[in-house]
Amino acid sequence: MRGAWGGRGARDRRLAIQPGERQRSRSRVRQLLSGLVSSYARAFARPRRPLVACVCAALLALSSWSVASASERVYVVQPGDSISVIAERHGVSERDLRAWNSLDGDLIRVGQRLVIRGGRAPAAAASSSNSFLVPLPRERGGRVHTVRSGETLGGIAQRYGVRVQDLINWNQGLQADRIRVGQEIRVGASFVRQRRTLRHEVQPGEMLGFIAQRYGVRQADIVRWNPGLNPDRLRVGQVLVLQVDGPEEPSESRGAAFEGRLVRGEQLPPHRGYQIRNRSRAWGTNETISYLMEGFDAVLRRFPRSPRVMIHDLSFERGGSMPPHRSHQSGRDADIGYYQRSCGEVCTYRRIGPAELDVERQWTLLLFWIEHGMVDYVFIDYELQGALYRFLQAQGASQAQLSRWLQYPRGRGASVGVIRHEPGHRDHLHVRFSCSTDDDQCR
Ligand SMILES: [Zn+2]
Repeated sequence: MRGAWGGRGARDRRLAIQPGERQRSRSRVRQLLSGLVSSYARAFARPRRPLVACVCAALLALSSWSVASASERVYVVQPGDSISVIAERHGVSERDLRAWNSLDGDLIRVGQRLVIRGGRAPAAAASSSNSFLVPLPRERGGRVHTVRSGETLGGIAQRYGVRVQDLINWNQGLQADRIRVGQEIRVGASFVRQRRTLRHEVQPGEMLGFIAQRYGVRQADIVRWNPGLNPDRLRVGQVLVLQVDGPEEPSESRGAAFEGRLVRGEQLPPHRGYQIRNRSRAWGTNETISYLMEGFDAVLRRFPRSPRVMIHDLSFERGGSMPPHRSHQSGRDADIGYYQRSCGEVCTYRRIGPAELDVERQWTLLLFWIEHGMVDYVFIDYELQGALYRFLQAQGASQAQLSRWLQYPRGRGASVGVIRHEPGHRDHLHVRFSCSTDDDQCR
């Protein structure tokens, strides 16, 4: 299996071999397998403390409301809140929130009472409270909207802040004048990529939700692809048919990022979360493309009205030397501009200071990649790391989490943490995505 879980699907890749498919040595796969299985167990099987934290936060959030008038409510600021988070959560704009409360800068304090007019009911807020320490689940293609009586495509587009044309692009065969009640429409969905069918053999203890998570597909789709499947009665050894992103013949990342090439690369498609500077310099492995798109899907799920960030170089179609970079040769590197606190439609690619970093959006993207095992490391300027560090501390991150995620504050030369300092990363972050476990020539 490649593409959907990249480095994590060795076992399924073996099951997915079709007649005539090119054979590869899989010793490395077998070596890694036992470790991976236990890391899955750690990641998904055990109910963890963050779940409890979420519930507490939810209760706090509910109890922190009082009704001022029918359309006006008072919200009491909770630990870890920021203006952008509160605004996003309640479906109002930051500008309105500031205006209603005569707020000048970004400073708010715990216990402060903020007036919120209109917007969403607080119940919607509770479920997403304080979740910056747990990555959003993998979910291909954004959210799904079920059409209700009286809705039009224009109305749905407006509701999610997208264009009708976007909805048509994301939903094959969708016609503006022919939507029906109950129809499912993907919103913020990824560009439709080639799809590959593979088979997954159910392992002891696996449930459908777990399998869906792992491949970044929806449970409902698995049920649809497997007629007669009873989701509550999976048997060990049962084989499920799945469809994942990526072509039948997967890409390969040959050699190292600073001395390598790319075979059967895939070009980064357009996406509502980013703007590509030059598509001829935006080729990567199937995994790199999946991870980028899924990461921005995740940001848009949490913050539907996000600006686009700039994506500069990935690799050339066939990889190889790409001046002025030393790396970017094997389809696993990407240079991405930062989410900033004040952007228009697009966050420009520019040098920023720690106070300008939009830590909520930036961290949502980074955590998704890090916690789903998609990246080897990320280069971010040391001072900008400081902004992330302070934000995470305020969110209640443990010392173990902070030191695993960030090099900061152990010095800009320390070889620790997934996120590290490298000169020249004040205007963009550089992410190195992981090799696929069954790509033996990837270094
Ligand atoms: Zn770079």
